[in-house]
Amino acid sequence: AGSSSAAAMAALAALPPLRDVIAAHGLEARKALGQNFLFDLNLTGRIARAAGDLTTGTVIEVGPGPGGLTRALLAAGARRVIAIERDPRCRDVLAAIAAACPGRLEVIEGDALEVDAARLGDGPRRIVANLPYNVATPLLLGWLRDATAFTCLVLMFQKEVVDRLAARPGTKDYGRLSVITQWRAVVTPQFEVHPRAFVPPPAVTSTVVRLDPRPEPLAPARLETLERVTAAAFGQRRKMLRASLKPLGDPLALCAEAGLDPTARAETIPVEGFAALARAVDERARAPSPPAAGNATVARA
Ligand code: SAM
Repeated sequence: AGSSSAAAMAALAALPPLRDVIAAHGLEARKALGQNFLFDLNLTGRIARAAGDLTTGTVIEVGPGPGGLTRALLAAGARRVIAIERDPRCRDVLAAIAAACPGRLEVIEGDALEVDAARLGDGPRRIVANLPYNVATPLLLGWLRDATAFTCLVLMFQKEVVDRLAARPGTKDYGRLSVITQWRAVVTPQFEVHPRAFVPPPAVTSTVVRLDPRPEPLAPARLETLERVTAAAFGQRRKMLRASLKPLGDPLALCAEAGLDPTARAETIPVEGFAALARAVDERARAPSPPAAGNATVARA
């Protein structure tokens, strides 16, 4: 392995600099594709290292673009990288990287929203990506549905999104995204990245975050019900639960069953409290008339 990895390092090092690659292939960034490229090798190396040991299983990269982070993942020893890129202009550039590391990089040309990443390659699976910001949140929510398929996710978002992912109850950033994400994963912000690190620079500061999926959700609940409960509660975040939960049934009964104060507001309720509310909503839906067969099982994955 030593000499083959040395050969791979030499082959990676022999690839032309990213700036030259972009110029030679006319890969000017397209805003519609959320393209903000990273050329700084220290930075791409740091992102790759935040995902830990990459020498087993599969690294899934969304949006490799010209391949800066892809090169860093391979240089960090990734056994196998499966990269999903929508922009066909990147095909030849990525093929050159694959040729430098035979058998270690596979490129899927297509829309990552339509790929089931939980079924790609062998486990342990790690997702590492400098995400296209226009689809970053829907991608994350899709992966969280199958969270246990992944060992960890190291993702670059706008800083403001990471603030919401990591927010604690009682803060202004705490909302639906915080509850759903923290219910399924431990969220650990890693470091901020200045707009100048990208070409072209985005309008806002970015943050790399690491998500470690929990083996079991923080508390039992059905995801669909948790989504409904958080939508109702945070849809009217300044109102008390006794008002905001009305669309879901008798709010006082739901709060009593969940052990919550009906005069509290959504932003003070911990994740476990929303899970308890979701269970209460499902209980009450079940109580009056028995459910049809196969309905309403408690999601554990
Ligand atoms: N990884 C590269 C880097 O760090 O320099 C590029 C990151 S850039 C922020 C986002 C990349 O995602 C672009 O290459 C873009 O073409 C690609 N992309 C945008 N939407 C996508 C989608 N729906 N599925 C897959 N890739 C997408």
